[in-house]
Amino acid sequence: MNEAARQAVRRQADFQCEYCRIHERHMPFSRLHLDHIIGRQHEGKNEAENLAWSCQECNLLKGTNLSGIDPATRLVVPIFHPRQNLWEEHFAHVGHRIVGLTPTGRATVLLLEMNSPDRVELRATLRAAGGL
Ligand SMILES: [Zn+2]
Repeated sequence: MNEAARQAVRRQADFQCEYCRIHERHMPFSRLHLDHIIGRQHEGKNEAENLAWSCQECNLLKGTNLSGIDPATRLVVPIFHPRQNLWEEHFAHVGHRIVGLTPTGRATVLLLEMNSPDRVELRATLRAAGGL
């Protein structure tokens, strides 16, 4: 992946994590990453349609996972796929939390710990400062 292709993924993501939607300007001490949506371990390709712009936390917590557990049903379901799913169909901001609207959304929120205390506090701080 050359730098131009990396920047194209970054621009397509509007400079925000494609999972939790944190903007890179709010993560000054950690760069966002190229996430292989389908990990190389699962023969995911190193091509734009398999790459997402991701914050470090989402990237590390997702790892090579392709599925998660829907906490409402305890069923194994696919996690959010930034190139095949629409964020707004699977997630909503409620207060400072991200809520899963679908089995995929709920499993992804749980797997990526989108509502960890630090992340909720960061959203609250950003909103108070007018950054969200
Ligand atoms: Zn994220």
